[in-house]
Amino acid sequence: MNLHEYQGKEILSTFGVKIQKGIVVSSPEEAVAAAKTLTEETGTGWHVLKAQVHAGGRGKGGGVKLAKNLAEVETIAGQIIGMQLITPQTSAEGKKVHQVLVAEDVYYPGETETSEFYISVLLNRTTGRNMIMYSTEGGMDIETVAEETPHLIFTEEIDPATGMLPFQARRVAFNLGLSGAAFKDMTKFVSALYKAYDKSDASLFEINPVLKTSDNKILAVDAKVTIDDNALFRHKDYLELRDIREENPIEVEADALGLNYVDLEGNVGCMVNGAGLAMATMDLIKQAGGEPANFLDVGGTADASRVEAAFQIILKDPEVKAILINIFGGIVRCDRVAQGVIDAYKNMGTINVPIIVRLQGTNADIAKELIDNSGLDVQSAVEFQEAADKVQAVLA
Ligand code: GDP
Ligand code: MN
Repeated sequence: MNLHEYQGKEILSTFGVKIQKGIVVSSPEEAVAAAKTLTEETGTGWHVLKAQVHAGGRGKGGGVKLAKNLAEVETIAGQIIGMQLITPQTSAEGKKVHQVLVAEDVYYPGETETSEFYISVLLNRTTGRNMIMYSTEGGMDIETVAEETPHLIFTEEIDPATGMLPFQARRVAFNLGLSGAAFKDMTKFVSALYKAYDKSDASLFEINPVLKTSDNKILAVDAKVTIDDNALFRHKDYLELRDIREENPIEVEADALGLNYVDLEGNVGCMVNGAGLAMATMDLIKQAGGEPANFLDVGGTADASRVEAAFQIILKDPEVKAILINIFGGIVRCDRVAQGVIDAYKNMGTINVPIIVRLQGTNADIAKELIDNSGLDVQSAVEFQEAADKVQAVLA
């Protein structure tokens, strides 16, 4: 589950990580009120307004702007709220902005003594350990830094048996070229950041930039946070942080129906039981010259109502030119699945894309007969290759 910047910062704050203070709002009037509150708290009259969408690169897309007085806060909030924000990380049509974070300006006016760093915590899948990845090149796109100046990216791996050790936090501060108060503040920052990542069961905490202010404080100016979905049962309070407006609407609907569905770019919809078979089926589609339009695991109980739900989900994708159903009938008998497919097809009325059904396992022969005699535009296949050939034929 991905979080908004303001939500990530709230979590950071509860673990003692210093952040750029802000208040999230959804109208220009609220933005002005938030700016006044922040001025009372922090003393600064300048504010940054930051679009809250699940995508980075907002600065480049015009989603992060500085306001030097309340009138500007109001105008800029009006411009950002409701806009379609296009950044290097969104699709061409961009993302609609529903909320804006009004934050204290931490790059104090006229000061040049600030530095921006990059710090993230994530899992190194090769070593199976969490690591802190950091760089002096903050505020920039880290992929570009990795490509052009890889020697400016450092890593610190954490031994799960000991957790993060104090010398590691000091090494981070040292490699970032800090000294004195900023050095000390950075060791605190990194330790608290790692604790936040660990205790919240996150799979990513990316802070870019981490700012050293002109008075040597270290704080998080941005926060990209992903919480591991498999750990959400331990964090019931995080569930309400989910913003489904940011998610793929078909995936949200499939999730509500209990289907394991991932939307992809291709043209062949697939309906499969079991994740392994689903992966193999996607390979099969590629081999046949198609591209899978989705990953869809209907699970163990492929009855008529589930099959129908799956059909409906697949057909919401306008790119789908053919559907391949590949079901192994072990516990659920193939003839039952076949009947389910036929019933669902009839219930749905018009389906204008060809359907290829491969049913293998218990009563596969009866299932094939049912499909072949149904009088519907559904082709049966028994072997994997046969299914692939039929997909290829309908795409040609
Ligand atoms: P991103 O573009 O989506 O990664 O959004 P960020 O939160 O990283 O903001 C983009 C850029 O806005 C940062 O790299 C900063 O340079 C700038 N920025 C953020 N906060 C402030 C601020 O308080 N004052 C000023 N002047 N600039 C800021
Ligand atoms: Mn950023």
